[in-house]
Amino acid sequence: MKATEKRLDAVLQRIVKACGRAGRDPESVRLLAVSKRHPAASVRQLALLGQKSFGENLLSEALDKQAQLEDLALEWHFIGAIQSNKTRDLAAHFDWVQSVDREKILQRLSSQRPASRPPLNICLQVNIDREPQKAGADPERIPGLAALAASLPGLRLRGLMSLPAVTDTGGAAQASLAATRELYQRLVEKGHDLDTLSMGMSADLEDAILEGSTLVRVGTDLLGPRNGLD
Ligand SMILES: *Cc1c(COP(=O)(O)O)cnc(C)c1O
Repeated sequence: MKATEKRLDAVLQRIVKACGRAGRDPESVRLLAVSKRHPAASVRQLALLGQKSFGENLLSEALDKQAQLEDLALEWHFIGAIQSNKTRDLAAHFDWVQSVDREKILQRLSSQRPASRPPLNICLQVNIDREPQKAGADPERIPGLAALAASLPGLRLRGLMSLPAVTDTGGAAQASLAATRELYQRLVEKGHDLDTLSMGMSADLEDAILEGSTLVRVGTDLLGPRNGLD
């Protein structure tokens, strides 16, 4: 528990410091703990320390952990690649889906969201550096996707998620973070009621906060190294 507590404190301190440098209220940045490839017991430790939002990128792994943690009121975010045959489970078992990059997935998530639950919170994933191997919509497709997401009754469009290219410093280039912020601001100017710019991870959360991130997704620096592929 001690090690987890130290890591959580250190990450929260980094967020507060970065907000200080950016002249921002620390309350304006939320921490998403990325618990992929870590066991339910680690999630429970963080939850007991007050961390309530967790991100997963594999559906079966996430459902297994959720079942083990049913007694806790946690907020679950899906941040991984989405196959269309998995949307029913995503719509039923998650509070947020941050990795939507195509129309068909928006339509399925909306129609499959159980009527007993509030609209599913959505971030559109943008492939800001247009990396061919990477998920996410190219920037010019984002306005159309946002218009569709905003029109669907089972969804609540909250903002954008980006996973920029990694430079040799281990984090994103400032230009990529700035480009994501500009795209987000253009959506707001078009009239979308957004509050979530999800960018920044272990290596670059300070830079992301300087560029306006409102949600940093941190795995390694909270829970230690992971085994296997991301
Ligand atoms: C794994 C992952 C993270 C966390 O990355 P760390 O470098 O371990 O902090 C954040 N976002 C997404 C989409 C991820 O898949």
